Amino acid sequence: MPISRYPAFRLVGTVTNKTPTILSVHAHPDDESSKGAPTIARYRTLQARCVLVTATGGEEGDILNPKMDRPEIRANLAEIRNAELEEATKIIGYDEVIKLGYRDSGMPGTEANERLDAFYNIPIDVSTDRLVEIFREQQPHVVITYPEDQSGYPHPDHLRVHDISLKAFDLAGNSNYKPELGEPFQPLKLYYSLWTKAKILAIVERFESLGLESPFPRDRLERQGQDDLVTTQIDVADFLEIQRRALLAHRTQIDPNSPFWFGLPTQEQAKAYSTEDYHLARSTVEVVSISNGEIETDLFEGTGLSLAQRFK
Ligand SMILES: [Zn+2]
Repeated sequence: MPISRYPAFRLVGTVTNKTPTILSVHAHPDDESSKGAPTIARYRTLQARCVLVTATGGEEGDILNPKMDRPEIRANLAEIRNAELEEATKIIGYDEVIKLGYRDSGMPGTEANERLDAFYNIPIDVSTDRLVEIFREQQPHVVITYPEDQSGYPHPDHLRVHDISLKAFDLAGNSNYKPELGEPFQPLKLYYSLWTKAKILAIVERFESLGLESPFPRDRLERQGQDDLVTTQIDVADFLEIQRRALLAHRTQIDPNSPFWFGLPTQEQAKAYSTEDYHLARSTVEVVSISNGEIETDLFEGTGLSLAQRFK
């Protein structure tokens, strides 16, 4: 697999919080289950502290499970999605869930997208400051967010999550920046979660080798992947089952009969492709594996922090 070398490392600040901490920033309830859930579950078993920030309530989501598409559910979607989020994050093992409480921005051209309380319409400095304050309070060593290029799914809330994550990463450790938001703390590494073509192709091949019809639409196969950005792969073979349970907790969003999510047994999924893939986009520490042109296999490499059990 092609990898991109991270150009230059810059060492700034010192770690003050010794509990290895990962903070993921997501846009809507269910994003935490579809992206990064097995990675978090894995690090939770390694005694890392895991914090989730969810920007919106997902009020504009469609009901994607036909069995749940009922008027009383539509009418209470925000509360129901909140309960689904709580259930899913317990399954994944998040230690803390912080909701920014903004409204789902919906897609461009919709009425929801014009609302002043929509996440995308909140001035970016305001939402960034919320995250700066959270970084300073939670002291994450590792931050996970969405990639810069989200052309495959350009939801305004996902774009905004990316933007505020980077801004907050750059500001949280700056002692001249708004001391009223807390003691400066510099996270050490920031990752983009990626969805690679290699993964989709491996899964499609597995479907076919088992004589099953692949649920991946053709246009998805033709779309450019982010394979060239992969610097880091986390082996999550043993945590795919947890991800499925977390996805199922999102009853309004995930159809339990969906072949896209559940068509392959987890053992087969693990045989096809057993990692979640990331791009190390910012680092204040040197990561030897990446510097050597190798794939990094631990989000905490180079941080000097010890997990209960190291990766092999
Ligand atoms: Zn989302």
